[in-house]
Amino acid sequence: MVISMKKWVILFFFCWCMIGCQHTQEIVNFEGKDIDELKVYVEDYYLELEIEEIYSKEKTGTILKQIPSSGKIEKNEKIKVVVSKEINYEEWKINELGNIPIMMYHGIQNMLDRETDYTKGNIDINGYQRTSESFKHDLEFYYKEGYRMIRLSDFVKGKIDVELGKSPIILTFDDGKHNIDVSKNEKGELVIDPNCAIGILEEFKKMYPDFGVTATFFLNEGLFESEYNEEIIKWLINHGYDIGNHSLNHPDFSKITEEQASKQIGGMYYLLDSMIPKEYVSIVALPFGSPYSKDHVNFSHILNSSYEGKNYHTIATLRVGWEANPSPFSKQFDATFLKRIRAYDNNGMDFDIEMNFKILSETRFISDGDPNIITIPKYLKSNLGKTTLKVNTY
Ligand SMILES: [Zn+2]
Repeated sequence: MVISMKKWVILFFFCWCMIGCQHTQEIVNFEGKDIDELKVYVEDYYLELEIEEIYSKEKTGTILKQIPSSGKIEKNEKIKVVVSKEINYEEWKINELGNIPIMMYHGIQNMLDRETDYTKGNIDINGYQRTSESFKHDLEFYYKEGYRMIRLSDFVKGKIDVELGKSPIILTFDDGKHNIDVSKNEKGELVIDPNCAIGILEEFKKMYPDFGVTATFFLNEGLFESEYNEEIIKWLINHGYDIGNHSLNHPDFSKITEEQASKQIGGMYYLLDSMIPKEYVSIVALPFGSPYSKDHVNFSHILNSSYEGKNYHTIATLRVGWEANPSPFSKQFDATFLKRIRAYDNNGMDFDIEMNFKILSETRFISDGDPNIITIPKYLKSNLGKTTLKVNTY
């Protein structure tokens, strides 16, 4: 059969069009659709596909993001997509009603465990002072066990923002003494000793950027007992740490008058106000954990009172505790009387670190990765307190 000239022209045009169309293609946006649809499209037009999976609440395989999502694309060019992988709550043991450890430290001293006369990292008989060696081990342990630090002030407000499957932990330091050792360089800048508490925390901040390193320091009138007190406090505020109230002179609140109680708390707020107005947290760590009951007459002066004509309001108090605190979403949560874990060693007994984290392995808060949603197993629903957040049960 002889093909006429006219037919040759049509055939040539048809072939040219087919090849041309395959070379430059208008991009179709598959966001919100299933990855299988995109796979067909990619094959049809000889494109390359790169898939990144992230955990989300969308159905597994849903395209959350496509790059590029519009414009034109050439043959063999790449489309990159972020695809959802559904969270299996049971498998992850998500429980946002679990307990949260608030660690109570005092001084950290540049010592090895074998240089102390007491159990492991304890420098004194009660384990209030801790060796730098053990403190480093603690931090390493928390990180490896999947704990991520959050600010105490966020915890009190029920703002818990940690990665999916991880657990929050809070660090507190009382008394100021032995929390930081500083000198100054020739430029007049603060130089932090790498073996003091803050030096070690800063090192971990660099080593593990996803650790969320932060801590709250509860101070008395002597602050850090350093000639650079005010500079240190400002440095801490600028580097993601918080300063709280531990009273002016560390009295036993069950043994002083109501007037003295207001002076001890109000006076300390007054001092912090003069240095870092509005930048400290209105949280009190109770000296000696006293009073032991909220019914004590002085307790109201710790929460709300006035000093020198100025009113103050405390949003939370910390006890000298022994175990982890309930989740802020739990019915049992009481910000005004929080429990802490004493960060000390006692061969796994008497609520030392080892014992507490063994208990926490069964009872800990495990995050769903979304700070705006509270995810809990169905059987715990009756433990849920009042909340404005969305609740997700499974
Ligand atoms: Zn103290």
